[in-house]
Amino acid sequence: MADIQLLPPVLNSAVDLDLEDDTNAADERFDKLREECGVMAIYNHSDAARLTYWGLYALQHRGQESAGIASADGYSVNDIKGMGLVSEIFTDDVLAKLPGHIAIGHTRYSTTGDSALLNAQPISVESTKGLIAIAHNGNLVNLGTSKERLERDGAVFQTTSDSEIIIQLIAHSRQTTLVDCIAESLSQVDGAFSIVMMTRNRIFAARDPHGFRPLSMGRITGVDGAPDTFVFASETCAFDLLHAKYERDVEPGELVMVSEDGVTSRRYAPETTPTASCIFEHVYFARPDSRIYGRWVQKSREEMGRQLARESHVPADLIVPVPDSGVTAAIGYATESGIPFNLGLIRNHYVGRTFIQPEQRVRDFGVRMKLNPVRSLLEGKRVILIDDSIIRGTTSRKIVRMVRAAGATEVHLRISCPPTISPCFYGVDTPSKKDLIAANKSIAEICEYIEADTLAYLSLPGLTHACTIGESSHGLSPASFCTACYTGHYPTQWVDVEEILPAIATV
Ligand code: SF4
Repeated sequence: MADIQLLPPVLNSAVDLDLEDDTNAADERFDKLREECGVMAIYNHSDAARLTYWGLYALQHRGQESAGIASADGYSVNDIKGMGLVSEIFTDDVLAKLPGHIAIGHTRYSTTGDSALLNAQPISVESTKGLIAIAHNGNLVNLGTSKERLERDGAVFQTTSDSEIIIQLIAHSRQTTLVDCIAESLSQVDGAFSIVMMTRNRIFAARDPHGFRPLSMGRITGVDGAPDTFVFASETCAFDLLHAKYERDVEPGELVMVSEDGVTSRRYAPETTPTASCIFEHVYFARPDSRIYGRWVQKSREEMGRQLARESHVPADLIVPVPDSGVTAAIGYATESGIPFNLGLIRNHYVGRTFIQPEQRVRDFGVRMKLNPVRSLLEGKRVILIDDSIIRGTTSRKIVRMVRAAGATEVHLRISCPPTISPCFYGVDTPSKKDLIAANKSIAEICEYIEADTLAYLSLPGLTHACTIGESSHGLSPASFCTACYTGHYPTQWVDVEEILPAIATV
């Protein structure tokens, strides 16, 4: 197996930067929740690695620090991983080293402490069951006991990633068939996992019993009698580039296998496990052109804006989204309120990850590098700004100041979800509770801190209503979702106490 590791010259030094420094461009990096991963799998295409590359390209918003692809031709497995963007790592020459009709891929964002190439995925393990490679979106929450037991059984971990636990459990399972080994292993871990796995000749896809993270299955119809290609992806936007048709979601607690015998499916967890799909996928993470948990994200996000207008209307002249993620909700708000919508903030889409920092005294430079106000639209206007979240509050304050400095007479901030009061343990990089502004201040105090005229959040019932209303609800109900970052009520029994106790103790 080739394991070529590429390291483009990318500086990624946010970990060393002073978070309290108002001039720091890294503020914005810490002022948004980050999805940690996107996964892709292709079965039965002569250029499976290239299709996986295109899929990962569409999933780039789910992780920008590292990416990897493993491919197989029925005999051998090759895998290539690197730090950086998918398009930086996978040139034509690199893709040529990934032959075969099967491939899985992964794009990763991670917390800075463990963003090393070591933890890039797919992770491959050779065992008595043959070589297995895994790509994982989510976070496991019962690591301690599983890892200790595996190490007692002789497992040697190659990475510090929780994803390797699953593959080591499979390697050490005493079940007779590989499918049974995988099913047994998945039933032993708790937390969030949407995974794709491959051997030399098979693809597997599974979601955890709560269905925290999305995972969809699609198909490219074979032409001229050629067999169909099966595709799995974190979001359906990855299907569009491949001309793949969405078939269905991998169900929570389901294990799907694709082999030369076709597609088979089995459950490894009881159907009675309550669903807890991450509602923040609809609020922010997923692209509006994706269908998540069977429902279009665009539909939910626009409804959030409408509901927000109904709950917290204020007289104003102009609705302005914080681009890009606030745009769809702002359209909904404008439609419901009748107030004109316009792009009063312009985003620079070409900001690279390396940037020479300005002198310390140049205030708010980090935000202005990415966003610039349109003075001709804002001057003399009462503005309603629409954004999808406030995490630490520093970026929101800079944006409010920027809009006011551009001539707005009033700035009202509206957030299309409830206050974020608790960290996520299910695959989203969240600051600890002490850094979540809504865990430490009242809404009135946050409003004062960010220097807005008024501030309002969408209510939790309003959010779940927006994500379930209408014909495209696909059986979703308010109880279908994890809302733990808004409530502090976690859907799993096992939460990593070492992580959560200090966070709670500091509040
Ligand atoms: S805690 Fe929040 S971000 Fe994490 S899975 Fe639940 S809803 Fe999603």
